[in-house]
Amino acid sequence: MLPLVSILDYHITNQAGLQSKESDIKLRNILKIMQCQKCENTAVYTRKYSGESLCSECFSNSILRKAAKTISKYKMIKNDELVVVGVSGGKDSLVLLSILKKMSETHNFRIIAVTIDEGIPGYRDEALDIVKSFCSKLDVEFRTYSYKELYDVTLSESLELRDEEKTTSCSICGIFRRRALDHAAEELGANVIATGHNLDDSLQTFLINTLSGDSNKIGWMSPGSDSKQIRKIKPLAEIYESEIVFYAFTNDLPFQSEPCPHMNEGIRTEIREFLNSIEDQHSGIKNNMYRSIIKISEVMKDSSFKEKRVCSNCGNQCTGKTCAVCNMITDLKKQRS
Ligand code: SF4
Ligand code: ZN
Repeated sequence: MLPLVSILDYHITNQAGLQSKESDIKLRNILKIMQCQKCENTAVYTRKYSGESLCSECFSNSILRKAAKTISKYKMIKNDELVVVGVSGGKDSLVLLSILKKMSETHNFRIIAVTIDEGIPGYRDEALDIVKSFCSKLDVEFRTYSYKELYDVTLSESLELRDEEKTTSCSICGIFRRRALDHAAEELGANVIATGHNLDDSLQTFLINTLSGDSNKIGWMSPGSDSKQIRKIKPLAEIYESEIVFYAFTNDLPFQSEPCPHMNEGIRTEIREFLNSIEDQHSGIKNNMYRSIIKISEVMKDSSFKEKRVCSNCGNQCTGKTCAVCNMITDLKKQRS
């Protein structure tokens, strides 16, 4: 059976020839159906913070425009570049992939999808299947890199070895994933790494860094490029998570809904719920906070500048004598022996 909105939508839009415009409006009023503010179709999404109501197509176009604006504001992608798109199989990365694929068809850049296999039994296997079939549908080249082949240890093995209280799954995973994506981009000759981080992710990360006293990291939060050779970009950084979910839903994108079994270990889930509850009461507060974070980040960037050095073990860039990945592997090996 068609959902109610679709049936009413069919009635109002497809039977329009049989009805006068006034009777359409009357029917919409009686049924409390709103019309899209950009076209004649029935609105399916209302942006509480702006009051805008949009149909599926106009909503999707608005998301494409937002992402394009962010890309151009921060000069994220240049002519003729190859962009590695980090695709986990979740909604954000699949939305990012589908948006960048659309843009690459009308602009002069290429994309390649890369999935990092952390070695989380069950969870990652399902995601890999989703990504593989989505990439083949979009006709996008797809590669995988695993922690096991890069570091000789899976995430699950690392968790068995870690010093229990000190290190969360996500902090080990994050350090390994960033390096794995760098490695993939270097090997594939890419200029840019794009990830699906959304506006909510930035707010959560800001609060996590603030609460843990890690103020240096606040200086690295700009969604645009940094001075490194391979640029890291976040084209969805100015879009609410809830809008990305709706984009995925209304465009039938096949994302993995099963969360990572380790996601509730850190404080992120509590912060997400906290921010959502304030947004519910004060629409638009996330946008305000995001703008403040970007300003704070710009100021912090200069004050938290640390001279880059080269890891004495692996030769990658770092700020200490050895890099975070080498330090992590050394610690895990100590536990193993
Ligand atoms: Fe890794 Fe944490 Fe993401 Fe799971 S939730 S994949 S452990 S970063
Ligand atoms: Zn190193």
